Amino acid sequence: MKEQPPSAGSKKDNRNFFRQTWVEVDKSDFHFNLKKIKEYLKKDTKILAVIKSNGYGHGGVELAKEAVKAGVYGIAVSSVEEGIQFRKAGIKTNLLVFGVPYPIDNLSVAVYWDLIPTLSNLHEIQYLATLAKRLSKVLEFHLKIDTGMGRIGVSPQDAYNILQKISEMPEIKMAGIYTHFAVADTDASYTQNQLDIFHDITKYAKNLGLKFIAHVANTAALISNKKTHLDMVRPGIALYGLTPFDHAHKMLKLKPVLSWKTRIINLKRVSAGFCVSYGRTFVTNKASVIATLPVGYADGYSRVLSNKGDVLVRGKRCPIAGRITMDSMMIDVTGIKGVSIGDEVVLIGTQGKEQIKAEELAKLQNTINYEVTCSISMRVPRIVV
Ligand SMILES: *Cc1c(COP(=O)(O)O)cnc(C)c1O
Repeated sequence: MKEQPPSAGSKKDNRNFFRQTWVEVDKSDFHFNLKKIKEYLKKDTKILAVIKSNGYGHGGVELAKEAVKAGVYGIAVSSVEEGIQFRKAGIKTNLLVFGVPYPIDNLSVAVYWDLIPTLSNLHEIQYLATLAKRLSKVLEFHLKIDTGMGRIGVSPQDAYNILQKISEMPEIKMAGIYTHFAVADTDASYTQNQLDIFHDITKYAKNLGLKFIAHVANTAALISNKKTHLDMVRPGIALYGLTPFDHAHKMLKLKPVLSWKTRIINLKRVSAGFCVSYGRTFVTNKASVIATLPVGYADGYSRVLSNKGDVLVRGKRCPIAGRITMDSMMIDVTGIKGVSIGDEVVLIGTQGKEQIKAEELAKLQNTINYEVTCSISMRVPRIVV
């Protein structure tokens, strides 16, 4: 006979996981950020909420549902897969796919799931037109112009010819036209040049009689230059309460949506000269208390933070002791009054008066806050609070 195993978490806190590492996503903070962004815009400027890459690691489906509730124009995803995931979850708003439709029959998949593709060459445009004729349906797309990002998009030279052709294809509708900035956070004159190129192209498109939504602004542009707002803006990082450059928070006050937490699962009192973890890179210089946490680089907590990062225990900063391992890491909790097994530990977020921001970890890792939250691996449960 088998005994019924214990359930992973109590029903009350809705934590159906066993291993004590989880991400909390605060949906009221998400709504707060959306509201702040809205207030920053002119009344009729639309918002395309960028909830790509699993919502920058926050959990895409849940936040997409919240964005729909808030009444955004639509949501942007990275790929057809992400679009399908949102459709299957019952999300009914406009879904724009940022990624290139390669291979080309990805366009059929996008159309089947009612996703709006981004197109950037004649081959893709003709393929969509053929599909539209076959389905006897007008199919929508957005045209991407590469005004200086150098990633994807029609080159400005080719844009005029392509727009001319689009204007002669009634079976497809260019619902939007857009470009992406390379240095919206650091170089106003390069950004202005990108914007000028874009304006020339959209002017030409309007003269052809095309009607579309023009959009260019990511968070950095949205915050730093209101002339980039146009018909619609595309905030990503701001939705999550993070900022693309240091002083951005002075211009738009936002609340970080994500907290990453764990618990102390092991505690030991050791004497001076005790070595911690692989490579013995951490050696105690006095009697110390070392705690073990069930989170490691396989969870996306970068190994680069070994002996560098801090975590919060009982409202106090505690340093990481030794190398971060795949599934666990150690911290030095010497001097933390009352420290116990089971104590909640904050990796990102606030506890008492202390706060660890994604930006802090990003600096230590020599990267950006975007990568910190995107790297939190899929095995870490996301809980909406
Ligand atoms: C990711 C992305 C955005 C959002 O950028 P943030 O800096 O997160 O605001 C906007 N537009 C495009 C095309 C993107 O790829």
